[in-house]
Amino acid sequence: MTDPRLAQIADLLELKADGQYGLHDINQRQHALQSAWLAERAGCPPALIAAALMHDIGHLVHGLGENPAAEGIDDEHEAVGNAYLTQWFGPEVTEPVRLHVSAKRYLCATESDYFGKLSPDSVLSLGLQGGPMSAEEVAAFRALPQAEAAVQLRRFDEEAKVKGLETPPVGHFMPYVAACIR
Ligand code: FE
Repeated sequence: MTDPRLAQIADLLELKADGQYGLHDINQRQHALQSAWLAERAGCPPALIAAALMHDIGHLVHGLGENPAAEGIDDEHEAVGNAYLTQWFGPEVTEPVRLHVSAKRYLCATESDYFGKLSPDSVLSLGLQGGPMSAEEVAAFRALPQAEAAVQLRRFDEEAKVKGLETPPVGHFMPYVAACIR
């Protein structure tokens, strides 16, 4: 019998993820699948593939609509997603999710060309999220155990916005989720 927790996650991704992703011509499910697929092909551990698949699950459970940033709202989806995922997953999954927005602010502060690579919706939300990190924030972020995983996830996140890209389905990635649930 399927674990009801896994069924709930698969349902969110398969049935509740048709909303548009940011300002892009892809939906939340396509964005999640492209993120997970990038992580899988990069040879990441199961926890980071699972984190990539579920990193925006906060968008699917928060009920704030499709693109709150366009209305000037920081939906804090990384905190909502973290709260949801900490029910069942350890820090190797939840921390990269919780920190993926901070990782964008970190990369904007530490890589001179990163800001220029951001899509327009990432630029818009960056302002609402606090802009590039200060030097103190950079130091504090680097000290976090999952900082590197969060940065990796953030790079997949930014890449996973390709219109029309075919990926494996949700079911392909659920074994990674199953391997991490506890
Ligand atoms: Fe994302």
